[in-house]
Amino acid sequence: MLLKNVIFLGPPGSGKGTHAEKVSQSFGIPRLSTGDMLREQIKANTKLGMEAKKFMDAGQLVPDEIILGMVDQRLQEPDCANGCIFDGFPRTEPQAAALAVIVAIGCVVNMHIADEAIVERMQGRRVCPVCGHTSHLSWMKNEACDRCNQTMVIRADDMPETVLNRLRVYHAQTKPLIDYYTKQGVLHTVDADGDVMEVAKRVYEALV
Ligand code: AMP
Repeated sequence: MLLKNVIFLGPPGSGKGTHAEKVSQSFGIPRLSTGDMLREQIKANTKLGMEAKKFMDAGQLVPDEIILGMVDQRLQEPDCANGCIFDGFPRTEPQAAALAVIVAIGCVVNMHIADEAIVERMQGRRVCPVCGHTSHLSWMKNEACDRCNQTMVIRADDMPETVLNRLRVYHAQTKPLIDYYTKQGVLHTVDADGDVMEVAKRVYEALV
């Protein structure tokens, strides 16, 4: 199977990042996560990072021009030449339209999960402040990162109030992309609720 550009679409906490990473490693195609790129900018204290942080902490989307500039630059790097696994991008119709001009999308995996299940999931999500590894209290033996042994923390934008806001933003601004990609005949909806290995199997079935 020749896997080229794949988009992981879905609400926050639907497991986009986890499954995009699995697919990226299995097929040797880079994962392009705009959320991770923004967090790197914040960590490095750049002007872009400081600007983005205001929106992220409020659970809002970062303006399209900031995101598109960042993605455009990343896509010029040589490892993206044979395709990318897009995680958390595009999130708005203008982002999708801009991406369509640059690359052809082979498949969009739509991670479907009810809002109530997301709220429950995100309350237990933890991130390592040092290496960025994400995990969940229900899988963790203790609060330490299993990669670098640092104490894992709750992400600022996973706080309950912010999660509800991110869900509202998803429904208003990102969900319309389901129709957008259905019309293009590339959308595959996956039931994202359940055991991680079960969901991984459904994702692979959607890709082949
Ligand atoms: P994520 O890690 O994908 O859940 O993204 C975390 C936050 O970064 C989001 O809640 C947005 O504030 C911001 N963000 C990430 N990707 C995008 C995007 N494609 N467009 C706008 N904002 C984004």
